[in-house]
Amino acid sequence: MEKSSSGFAALVVREPGAEGIRSCYACGTCTAGCPVRRVTPAYNPRKLIRMVLLGMQDEILAGKEIWLCSSCYTCQERCPQGIRITDTIIALRNLAVREGHAPSGISMQANLIKGQGRLYALDAFDDKKRKKAGLPSLPSEVEGAKKLLEKKE
Ligand code: SF4
Ligand code: SF4
Repeated sequence: MEKSSSGFAALVVREPGAEGIRSCYACGTCTAGCPVRRVTPAYNPRKLIRMVLLGMQDEILAGKEIWLCSSCYTCQERCPQGIRITDTIIALRNLAVREGHAPSGISMQANLIKGQGRLYALDAFDDKKRKKAGLPSLPSEVEGAKKLLEKKE
């Protein structure tokens, strides 16, 4: 992996959604409106963008911050530079996963989706509730989702 500041930023801007981050002028609008920031003051999307531009690859990809974002898109809607901040954070998560830094909870959820096509398995009790509500029963596993997630060699 590249280590220089321009190297990491170049790597990130190649990811879909992160193309515009170099036009950030650090106004802080993203951080001011972030709901996660309100409950976790250490979380700061402006700082994350700055860290990318400064090439702080290990701190970002191995850190916890990128996993705190709730993907509410408030920052992205408000950025005066039109930077797709939420999409950039998703791109950073993708890079982190490729580098083997996915939090265990995320890996577990991914395996559940890959294995059964949904996070929560359905059982007879769910079917009973659906029937009561006039809904058809659902299969316990979703084959179509599994096929979609199969890796193409
Ligand atoms: S709102 Fe946009 S320009 Fe302002 S700090 Fe955040 S990313 Fe940078
Ligand atoms: S998308 Fe993430 S970083 Fe942006 S405002 Fe929402 S929680 Fe904060």
